[in-house]
Amino acid sequence: GRCLAVFTSGGDAQGMNSALRAVVRMAIFSGVRVFAVREGYKGLVEGGKHIEEFRWASVSNILHKGGTVVGTARCKEFREREGRLKAAENLVQRGINNLVVIGGDGSLTGANLFKKEWEGLLAELEEAGRLTRSQVEKCKYLNIVGLVGSIDNDMCGTDMTIGTDSALHRIIEAVDCLTSTAASHQRSFVLEVMGRHCGYLALMAGIAGCADAVFIPERPPNPGWEDSMCYQIAQCRDAGRRHSLVIVSEGAVDSENRPITSEQIRDILQAKLGHDTRITVLGHVQRGGKPSAYDRIISARMGAAAVITLLNAEGEIPPKMIGVQGNVIMQLPLMDCVTKTRAIDTAMKTCEFKQALELRGRSFKR
Ligand code: ADP
Repeated sequence: GRCLAVFTSGGDAQGMNSALRAVVRMAIFSGVRVFAVREGYKGLVEGGKHIEEFRWASVSNILHKGGTVVGTARCKEFREREGRLKAAENLVQRGINNLVVIGGDGSLTGANLFKKEWEGLLAELEEAGRLTRSQVEKCKYLNIVGLVGSIDNDMCGTDMTIGTDSALHRIIEAVDCLTSTAASHQRSFVLEVMGRHCGYLALMAGIAGCADAVFIPERPPNPGWEDSMCYQIAQCRDAGRRHSLVIVSEGAVDSENRPITSEQIRDILQAKLGHDTRITVLGHVQRGGKPSAYDRIISARMGAAAVITLLNAEGEIPPKMIGVQGNVIMQLPLMDCVTKTRAIDTAMKTCEFKQALELRGRSFKR
C-alpha cells in the first residue's frame, strides 16, 4: 500500500497540530500508513528515530495545543544536494513517496526542489548501492502537497494561512490591555507587530483594536506623514480620546523604502505632541498560545484535503498547495502561490480598510 509522511517546518504557527492530526487520522482512516517526521527537514535528513510511524492515538490530545508537537527547525543540510540525497534515502527505505509539508514559503520551495530532483537522487542512490532496484521502483516519483503554516498571512492563493487568526487574537488581547492602562494615564502607545513583508496583522489589528494610525510595508505613507499623523491624533485627543495607539508592522517602510520604526514614531509623538509615549514590541507572544477556533477548523479541513489530494492522484501529480478561498478548500499549483507576492488588496479592498480605520477618526468632525 501507499505510505505518506507529514512534517512541520520553518516558523511554527498555531493550528499546525490540528493540521498534523487531520493528516494522520485521514490517512489511517483511508488505510494508508502514515509517518511523522520530527524537527522538519532536519529529521528527514537524519532519519532514524526522527521518522516514526504514527497511530490513531499518536495525535490524541494535541488539537488545542499551540506550536507543533513534532517539532520544527531550520535545516542548512537540506539546502545542499547531499542533504536531500540523505532525505530521499530515508524516505525510500520506508517506502514513502507521498509528503505533506506544513510550513512557510521557504519550506514549500524546498519541497518543490526535492520533488524536481527526486528521480536523479534515486538513480544516484541506486548506483551507489544505498537503495535496491525494487525500493527505487516502488517510489519512482514523489508527490507533495503543502499547507501554509505562517502567522503572517503572506501567501497567495489562500485567504488565510494557518496561525494568522490566532496571532490576531494575541495582538488584540495586547491592544485591549494597553488601551486601558494608556487611557488611565493619557498615554500614547506604539505597538510593533510581526508580519515580515506583509502588513495583514497590523492592518487587521488596527481595525479590530481601534488604532489611530497603522504603518504597513505594502502602502508607504506619503511624504509629510509625520505631521498628518500628529494632526489626526491631536484632533482625537481634543475630542476627548484619552489615549492614542499607533500600530507598526515590523516591515513598515516610508515612500523612499526606509524602515519606519517604533522608536521613530515614539520620538515624533513625544517631540511634536509632547505625549508620554511607550513602545511595546509583541514578538513571539504572537506565535504562542492556543489556536483559535478558526485556525483549528481550517487546519483540520486543509489536512484532510491534503490526504485526499494524494490519495486521488493516479500516478505522479504536480506539487499542490491547499488553500481556502471564500470558505472553499482549494487545490492550487504550489509554485504559482509561492512565487507570487501577495498584495494587501487580496485580503481586503483598499477603500474598505481605509473606511474601517477612519470610523474612529471621524468622531471629532461631527
Ligand atoms: P519558512 O518555511 O517558515 O519560510 P524557512 O525559509 O526558514 O522557513 O525554511 C525552512 C527550511 O526549509 C529551511 O531551514 C531549509 O531547510 C528549507 N528550505 C528553505 N528554502 C529552501 C530552498 N530554496 N532549497 C532547499 N531547502 C529550503
